[in-house]
Amino acid sequence: MAVKKILIEPNKLLREVSQPVKEVNKEIQSLMDDMLETMYSANGIGLAAIQIGIPKNLIVIDLLTKEKKKDPIFFVNPKIIKKSAKKSKYEEGCLSIPNLFAEVQRPSECEIEYLDYVGKKKNLKATGLLATCIQHEIDHLKGILFIDYLSKLKRDIILKKLSKQKLEQKRLVI
Ligand code: ZN
Repeated sequence: MAVKKILIEPNKLLREVSQPVKEVNKEIQSLMDDMLETMYSANGIGLAAIQIGIPKNLIVIDLLTKEKKKDPIFFVNPKIIKKSAKKSKYEEGCLSIPNLFAEVQRPSECEIEYLDYVGKKKNLKATGLLATCIQHEIDHLKGILFIDYLSKLKRDIILKKLSKQKLEQKRLVI
């Protein structure tokens, strides 16, 4: 396993549409292992492959809710097949938009179909934070970021703060 570099917005790759995985083989599994390690090391709860620059329909999620015990879920080719009419708001963040948060409204519940770590077909009904997280990550596979749901004003504020952060980080490196 290896920790990979997470792409930070603005980055053209983050806007790319990811492609379906044809076969869940060793290569895909090792990629998912890397994604998980990268996510844990960045203290994230979800990561899409495109965030480490690979345009494949792969997501890892671990809400770390059970006393911080690791309990990852791997999603290959996830697809939302049902969304509730009821919506809920969460303050969302993103590893590609570090340290910045904003409220986003999404369907409270969703049902998804996907293949698991060994390529087995699965179905999951998600609620609460898991439902939000899955929708956020599936958006990444379409090149969508949570800031796209905000007003232009709010989005511009976040992008401005983000570029400031980038400058400060560069200064530290030098
Ligand atoms: Zn994200």
